[in-house]
Amino acid sequence: MIRLYNTMTRQKEEFVPRDPGKVSMYACGPTVYNYVHLGNARMLVVFDMIRRYFAWRGFEVNYVQNFTDIDVKIIARAREEGCEPGDLAAKYIEAYFTDAAALRIQKATAHPKATGNIAEMQDIIKALIEKNLAYAADGDVYFAVDRFAGYGKLSGRATEDMLAGARVDINPRKRGPMDFALWKKAKEGEPYWPSPWGNGRPGWHIECSAMALKYLGPAFDIHGGGGDLVFPHHENEIAQTEGYLDGEIMARYWMHNAFITVSREKMSKSQGNFFLVRDVLSQWSGDIVRFYLLGTHYRSPLDFDEEKLVMAGKGLDRLKTAIRLAREALSRPGGAAEDLRASAAQARRSFTEAMDDDFNSAQAYAALFDLAHDINAAVAAGDALPAALREAADVLGELSSVLGLVLTEDSAGQTGAGEEKISALMALIVDMRAAARAKKDWATADLIRDRLKEAGIAIEDTPQGARWYETP
Ligand SMILES: [Zn+2]
Repeated sequence: MIRLYNTMTRQKEEFVPRDPGKVSMYACGPTVYNYVHLGNARMLVVFDMIRRYFAWRGFEVNYVQNFTDIDVKIIARAREEGCEPGDLAAKYIEAYFTDAAALRIQKATAHPKATGNIAEMQDIIKALIEKNLAYAADGDVYFAVDRFAGYGKLSGRATEDMLAGARVDINPRKRGPMDFALWKKAKEGEPYWPSPWGNGRPGWHIECSAMALKYLGPAFDIHGGGGDLVFPHHENEIAQTEGYLDGEIMARYWMHNAFITVSREKMSKSQGNFFLVRDVLSQWSGDIVRFYLLGTHYRSPLDFDEEKLVMAGKGLDRLKTAIRLAREALSRPGGAAEDLRASAAQARRSFTEAMDDDFNSAQAYAALFDLAHDINAAVAAGDALPAALREAADVLGELSSVLGLVLTEDSAGQTGAGEEKISALMALIVDMRAAARAKKDWATADLIRDRLKEAGIAIEDTPQGARWYETP
């Protein structure tokens, strides 16, 4: 049984899908006026992990993630760069897929764009006006918040708090201070679409209502996004969608990941302390960044810290080393196998238990490290049967891949920079020791072996030459 934390009810609940065996998920994707920043990346990796886990548990997953490709920031940025808003959006959508691939974020089932769904948005706006939940005013259309009884139910905010939090907005077209735009009258020189209310463009919130309904239907399973979207974006999505559906719910579960902080301040573009994913990726492999991002439960804040990336790199190397050692040891004769088989079965149980409990990837890491430790110990003791070793290594690889982590070079296509360097250094050291032994310089050979042992690396002489491994 999978349990997840539902922002709407503020508690962990058993996951029961709308359609048996299927999961329908929608996550609010980036506004494509810049490269993806690390705060976006956390949300994208988290929901990719959740989607992969559902698939591993046997669900057929329909995951929709939109691109906001028309918006005031896009228009402003296009003006700065001297290009068309459409071209600017296309450039950053392409860049998104490059960065996402580096982080091993799988493509969603569908990546609809706001500009591809204008007619669908207009249909909802027309219906909302007919239902008296929205009104046109001088080329704009606004949602009448006080006409929707459930407003505030997701964020749990009282009206006074929402008013205080709402931007002070002296817009004479609005009837109520919290009313929000569904349609915006075109300003001079801006892109526009014709509509019953005149030329204009959609407000931000309406696009997600239109695309979620179009691709997933009413009462789909999981609506996700960053925690900063709870209010007002998701609150507004609910008001529009559920007003349009005459009270039928938009989504059964609402999931939100916590912020990334830099030196404990919330990372955001407006604060200027954000890191672009591509800047981080110029120094760290995508695998390490992903491993780091999933090393903290998605609902806990994550402080960005280079030292923790170093640690993440070491942790990932430990898992990779266990699989490499298991493979290398396959050709050796072995003895007892049951212990390792039991370790693998236990790891599978612990991993599933952790992930079933609100996708606790941080806890799931413990299962991976325990199994890696047992594999290393079995290899060091030299008493594991090849079949059991292979099985244990396969389980470690399988469970890691559920989190989108790739541990073996043949399937990875790339390895952590740290591991590559260590492998190159160790090859050099092993060769130097072999040269010493060839000259019968036993003192030097033993010195190398002893110093490596102090550093946690064992060297073993075999008929095929020396092998090395990190000791558990
Ligand atoms: Zn949205």
